[in-house]
Amino acid sequence: MTVYAGPVFAMAANQFNVIANHLEIPLDERARLLMPKRAVTVSCPIHRDDGTVAVFEGYRVQHHLTMGPTKGGTRFSPSVDIGEVAALAIWMSWKCALVGLPYGGAKGGINVDPSKISPRELEVLSRRYMQEMIPFVGPHTDVMAPDMGTNEQVMAWFMDTYSMYQGRTVTEIVTGKPVASGGTLGRREATGRGVAHLAKRVLKELSISLNNATAVIQGFGNVGSYAALELHHCGLKVIAVSDHTGALYRAEGLDIPALIRHADSHGNIAGFSNELHFDPAELLTLACDVLVPAAMERVIDAKVADNLKCRVLAEGANGPTTPDADLVLEKRQDEIFVIPDILCNSGGVVVSYFEWVQDLQQLFWEEEEVTRREYHILDRAFDHMVTRSKVDKITHRTAAMAIGVEKVRAAKKTRGLFP
Ligand code: GLU
Repeated sequence: MTVYAGPVFAMAANQFNVIANHLEIPLDERARLLMPKRAVTVSCPIHRDDGTVAVFEGYRVQHHLTMGPTKGGTRFSPSVDIGEVAALAIWMSWKCALVGLPYGGAKGGINVDPSKISPRELEVLSRRYMQEMIPFVGPHTDVMAPDMGTNEQVMAWFMDTYSMYQGRTVTEIVTGKPVASGGTLGRREATGRGVAHLAKRVLKELSISLNNATAVIQGFGNVGSYAALELHHCGLKVIAVSDHTGALYRAEGLDIPALIRHADSHGNIAGFSNELHFDPAELLTLACDVLVPAAMERVIDAKVADNLKCRVLAEGANGPTTPDADLVLEKRQDEIFVIPDILCNSGGVVVSYFEWVQDLQQLFWEEEEVTRREYHILDRAFDHMVTRSKVDKITHRTAAMAIGVEKVRAAKKTRGLFP
């Protein structure tokens, strides 16, 4: 029996079984590696603006505590449930281990559509969620960060709420904060920049010139917008982008800086142009060099995978590709170079780690140092993944996850089973 249910958890479990089979992990070791250590569900009551009281359900799952504190984002979305949060926590573990961070994975969230509540309600809900989590988190226990539906402001409220209860400022309790309240330079851009950095590296290896290359981006939140901007600055034409309001297409390339200014002031891409509208359902299968899914999980199923026309699939989102789609992509390995999510979007948690280190030391770095170190870590992990994939004759995803799972397994093995 388990409380974790639903398609996203099933996907994380399915992926783990592929890795466990490849690594020949004995059956009696598997549950210890896969199943989350802790899951907390809290009721968050708030006063609505109309005077009524509403209760929102919040979650936090801490996957393993073997290598240090747990680390991961907090998602505000109507899709959030304990199974989805657990899957995302598990992926955080493999991601942190792959890139060499001293963390286990965690994830949290509230089942709420943040666009349907007022700014005041968002603030009180964020604060109430953190207040309910105080017994379960801490700078050396579990460190939150942004994810879908949350942002720097929400992190500042989390930090402030935790600090007010401690009676002192504890910046190291969350990452992804505004620079003004203990955040690091380069965190806001980190995930998108990392996606673009790895995509560019693959284009160079495939001898595709950046100036003739095209990109398509699904999702225009923190990850998609900064990935688009970085690719645009490097000379690529970003021919299509989408968000939950629709999609835009321009064969000569969209004006990404102008689109970001529009999205910043309007909250989404709607209303940017009357002429450039495009069917979002066709976005993923557009012909392009780099496709960046940077929205939801499970958007690339077997059928979409079969119809993809990109050269590089740079997974900005967590879990965008289903295991069925992976089987299709495995057959298309010579046509499509997959940069799997746990590597591709790991720039975010890498720079979160830098933020935590800087907060603990009260010693802050220049942005150039942050970005240089981020790219160094991404390049090292990329090399490990590619080498492993060639040596073991396995897909990039299997290689990346195998490296992550192996590191967690080695830590558990050497520590032993208590008592
Ligand atoms: N939510 C992001 C992720 O899925 C960032 C996590 C973090 O910075 O801790 O990787």
